[in-house]
Amino acid sequence: MGKPMKRLHVAAALRAHGCEPVRNRGGHEVWRCPCGQHTSAVPNHREITAGVVNSIQKQMPCLEEGWLQ
Ligand SMILES: [Zn+2]
Repeated sequence: MGKPMKRLHVAAALRAHGCEPVRNRGGHEVWRCPCGQHTSAVPNHREITAGVVNSIQKQMPCLEEGWLQ
């Protein structure tokens, strides 16, 4: 199960695993994974809820297990 996390922590984990931000609009930043097949939207909030943390993990299946801790 996920837990709430700070957006800066989520963004740092994405970047550390080779993801890149591709656009920021509509209240969220979209990140693309290194394989190029997956994207995930990270809300522009200081805190990301546990539910959204779970979604982000599911949307990036090509990253190693436990990439977002
Ligand atoms: Zn991917």
